[in-house]
Amino acid sequence: MEGVNETFDVLIVGAGPAGSFAAERLARGGVRVALFDGRPAGEAKACGGGVTSKALKSWPFLLEAGGRAVTEVEMVSPAGEGVRLKLAEPFAIYSRCAFDSYMRARAERAGARVFDRRVSASEKKDVDGSWAVRSREGESWRGRVLVAADGANSAIAKRLAGPLSNSDMEVAFGYRTPLNEADEAPTVIAFLPGWAGYAWAFPRLDHISFGIATAQDAFEHKALDRMLWDFMVGYFRERERDGTSSPGKGIPLDGEGELEERLRASAQRYAARIPGLAPETFDARRAAGDDWALLGDAAGFADPVTGEGIYYALRSAELFAEAYLAGDVKAYERRWRADFGRELRRASKMRRRFYGRFWGGPFTDRMIKLARAHPGIRRTLRELVTGDQGYVDLKRTLARRALNPF
Ligand SMILES: Cc1cc2nc3c(=O)[nH]c(=O)nc-3n(C[C@H](O)[C@H](O)[C@H](O)COP(=O)(O)OP(=O)(O)OC[C@H]3O[C@@H](n4cnc5c(N)ncnc54)[C@H](O)[C@@H]3O)c2cc1C
Repeated sequence: MEGVNETFDVLIVGAGPAGSFAAERLARGGVRVALFDGRPAGEAKACGGGVTSKALKSWPFLLEAGGRAVTEVEMVSPAGEGVRLKLAEPFAIYSRCAFDSYMRARAERAGARVFDRRVSASEKKDVDGSWAVRSREGESWRGRVLVAADGANSAIAKRLAGPLSNSDMEVAFGYRTPLNEADEAPTVIAFLPGWAGYAWAFPRLDHISFGIATAQDAFEHKALDRMLWDFMVGYFRERERDGTSSPGKGIPLDGEGELEERLRASAQRYAARIPGLAPETFDARRAAGDDWALLGDAAGFADPVTGEGIYYALRSAELFAEAYLAGDVKAYERRWRADFGRELRRASKMRRRFYGRFWGGPFTDRMIKLARAHPGIRRTLRELVTGDQGYVDLKRTLARRALNPF
């Protein structure tokens, strides 16, 4: 039987962006790493796959993972007003199958041992101070340090750091529809009327990922699903009407009312949770001990306003690896708080206001109206999308640019 009682320095459960990147960094530093993931080959993690230009600048090798560069985003307000944002620096949209296998291959090349196994971890360490993980097939592996990179429903994180409540979670669901002419399909983000959250259309190489992300505690599937179908049908109809592009080419558009039916015949549904921690949870929840750590979604590291988690998955992996290689696993706690903790906490505090009301209407309506008229506000919005504008100094930047647009 493979791996029985084999001992490693670090056991990493989950080979998403967080687990694979941590494994790569540790293996490059000479650490004996085992990386486990039970996801069947070809089954993609539910995700929009959007990676900001901030992330692409931090890790330029990501450009090799075969994403689709996005240079323009259309943003639509709850009232239906739109603004087109030309991005100075493109972001990329990936198929998660391609992205995850690229990252996993890098880990393997760096020397990490990768096991295609779903595993469960021991509740505590054994007498000689090792953690153990076990597969359903009865194999087991041991290691001095246990890392949970097993995503938003992490069983290990629940045990080591405590459960998360519904108010610490977002839900995202959507459909993948086929696309023939990838280069003509626009990227759209539309804020939802009456809900905290947004719908998106993210074209990839051979399909479009449509989805909605919103708070789990206010989730009403039927109403939101209807809203998403209206958004999808509107997306294809509008492109057909204005003649600027034809992303519906793969789907015949003959006959009013038939489009939704045809889309339904080819659409593949997906759904999953994204962490969106409340500010108090950020304060109270730990992501590291002396010999364990939580990375990415397992730690709750996603932006509570946008649901963006890939950047934080990668950055947390990097910070953990640095702490481990410096001989102090626990210092990872200090490092993530100093690096992006303040930013995520601020996003969490802003969430209510961002999706709330401002001057008698939804804030997102006001923001898009202002952006249409004001180049300074448009620029700030553009930088928010690319990840170059943070939340901590957002108000100051908006005030400065409102007075001095360029
Ligand atoms: C619908 C949706 C859309 C999103 N869109 C975006 C977006 O556009 N941009 C963005 O930045 N973020 C987006 N996110 C968030 C993003 O997907 C996550 O933040 C990111 O994937 C976190 O990476 P991770 O490595 O921490 O976890 P994951 O990517 O979830 O990886 C965890 C891995 O652990 C494995 N695993 C779980 N349990 C076990 C086990 N017991 N044994 C072995 N393996 C296990 C899983 O198979 C999985 O491969 C979206 C999320 C959703 C749900």
